[in-house]
Amino acid sequence: MPLHVEISRPFSLLIIVGAAFFGISYFMNMSQNPSLPNGQGGDSPPQLAIHNAEDEVRRARIEREIAERHIEILKFQLKRLEEERKQMGPDLDQELNEEFRAGLRLIVDLIEGKRRADAKMVESFKEMWDANRAGLAAASLSDDDPIIDILWPVEPTYGISAIFKDPEYERYFGLEHNAIDIPALQGTPVTVAEDGVVEEVKDNGLGYSFITVRHAGYVTLYGHLSSLDVKKGQQLLKGDPLGETGGMPGTNGAGNLSTGPHLHFELITGVGHINPLKHLPAAGVELRS
Ligand SMILES: [Zn+2]
Repeated sequence: MPLHVEISRPFSLLIIVGAAFFGISYFMNMSQNPSLPNGQGGDSPPQLAIHNAEDEVRRARIEREIAERHIEILKFQLKRLEEERKQMGPDLDQELNEEFRAGLRLIVDLIEGKRRADAKMVESFKEMWDANRAGLAAASLSDDDPIIDILWPVEPTYGISAIFKDPEYERYFGLEHNAIDIPALQGTPVTVAEDGVVEEVKDNGLGYSFITVRHAGYVTLYGHLSSLDVKKGQQLLKGDPLGETGGMPGTNGAGNLSTGPHLHFELITGVGHINPLKHLPAAGVELRS
């Protein structure tokens, strides 16, 4: 016997509207998250394609933001560079002081030359983005939980100027800071953190230059180098020289998004970037607030 339920008009209308709304929001959720679980874990090729497409969209968005906010970013760089000069004060001889002045002048020039700055900063951002992907690609076959026994690639004489996932860095550059920044006078020798093989040596001239090294189950990346003294495939023992630090705006290897002379140091395992500070020997490092 069919069950007869009488629904008053306004109530049935509510049900129809409710069902329609549910349907629409379900559809919208589907289109926002097209990468449904495929039961295999990890990235199957279609998902990888989606991630790459998402990456490209994100990259285009950040490029646009950098072009729009470049004066704000340059002012932030100027402030950081001044702070760093103060911090390194006692060690600055006349030549280094002149390097600082030249870096500051370059940033002021960029603030004044708007269009030139847009292009230069976006170019540097692309190089940094590519470096980030190169690091991840190099580490794709690495262990999730390797044994990591690393040394400081440069002594943290001046502390740490940007921490892992630094919120201030991300706010200004729109890019996650998957590294620690170790301030070092321009041209300080950089040594490899652990035995390994050189994976990539990227000399971008006045742009952002970096080296990646593969170790047992993980990868390290050394960024803003002003001098790159190893070759791809070269075997290295812990403490061997890699090159020299850079980062002073307007010098080799720095790129246009550097906040001053420092080493940008990344540690990448099979799960992605991890905080190098948790694996470096304690050295009484004071974090700059
Ligand atoms: Zn950095």
